[in-house]
Amino acid sequence: MKKILLLILILCVSQFSFSQKELAKKLIDTLASDVFYGRGYVNNGNKIAADYIAKKFKEYGGQMVTDSYFQEYSYPVNTFPNKVEIKFGNKTLKTGLDFIVAPNSGSANGKYRLVKVTLENYKKEITRELINSDIQLAYLVNLPKANGRDEYFAQMDLKATIAQIAPLFVINDNKFTWSVAQETLTFPVIEIKSEFLLNHTSVSLNIENKLIDKFNTQNVIGYIPAKKWYKRKKFFVFTAHYDHLGMMGQTATFNGANDNASGIAMMLTLMKHFSENKPEYSVLFIAFGGEEAGLLGSKYYVENPVVPLKKMKFLYNVDMMGTGSEGIQVVNSTEHPKEFERLKKINEKYDLVKQIKPRGKAANSDHYWFEEAGVPSFFSYTLGGVTYYHDIQDRPETLPLTEFNDLHKLIVEFVNSF
Ligand SMILES: [Zn+2]
Repeated sequence: MKKILLLILILCVSQFSFSQKELAKKLIDTLASDVFYGRGYVNNGNKIAADYIAKKFKEYGGQMVTDSYFQEYSYPVNTFPNKVEIKFGNKTLKTGLDFIVAPNSGSANGKYRLVKVTLENYKKEITRELINSDIQLAYLVNLPKANGRDEYFAQMDLKATIAQIAPLFVINDNKFTWSVAQETLTFPVIEIKSEFLLNHTSVSLNIENKLIDKFNTQNVIGYIPAKKWYKRKKFFVFTAHYDHLGMMGQTATFNGANDNASGIAMMLTLMKHFSENKPEYSVLFIAFGGEEAGLLGSKYYVENPVVPLKKMKFLYNVDMMGTGSEGIQVVNSTEHPKEFERLKKINEKYDLVKQIKPRGKAANSDHYWFEEAGVPSFFSYTLGGVTYYHDIQDRPETLPLTEFNDLHKLIVEFVNSF
């Protein structure tokens, strides 16, 4: 009899854990599918994602704070909705795999002669070659790995200086990491693998950027009211950004499965959980836009709060929840040692993730503005596993969701401890 009861218990528990991860996988498969166009700046991807999240909020019992789930705002952004194409002879390179264009790239169209320059001689070379050239010039520089902040910024300056005159190739045989820019250079800066440059003295470029002065976007906001009416005025807050990098041209999609479809999946499974198991305090859910462009959605919220900041008891931001074989990192643990101890105790009690690593303040996701404005905030991301990040390989099929169930449990218990 005892054995049967134990078996039933094990089945129930595993069924519960199984369903969180299974549901998360479905949500991530959708949010990071190609029809969401990288939840960014091409083919309306950002709005498609926001509409999908609002639909899920409704389905999972999330209520509106105002008369809409959306909080709208806009910002300038540099985009690549048209061609981003490089050809050496007849060979067309693969966008995103063989090369990337820097986020602040401008446009270039035509055939270019490649001129090698160095950090030391580039000014002299550019002047000399310009006078003697009958064909458009593109420059190629092999920069050493920047040693510290000063060198990094010096290299950025160099790239910007050259890209005001001509297209610039920069060799990168390591990982490509894309981003979002809010301003633009005259010509493109292209990171490229050195193998494609062998034996070539000229190159055909067809790269077109489009600077949007006012890109319209929105935060998606919903909440689950507390079980008891007199506790409804205080909120535990969950945040995660849903935007990603969008597309680089018409073929390279940055799906952002780990960053941050996984965090939105965590948010939605938590909303469903607290809808079915009413919380002690109200729980607010904010899915931010504009994170990749510089934490813009969270900044807008803090400056224009829908639920006032002073009503927020604690905020938990999740970004990149897709791995976890090495545990998680908790930003701001040093600022809130009491809550951090509690989180660690819960982890030990239920034997969840391998380790919870402390980290100090960091402006690396949307918790940042809230903490600065006096709302106590944690930010967690998973450690270990695949390292795809801001590249076209960050896709649902490469994401293991190693600790998703345990993380879900950890966060639920943490909320319940308030
Ligand atoms: Zn992110």
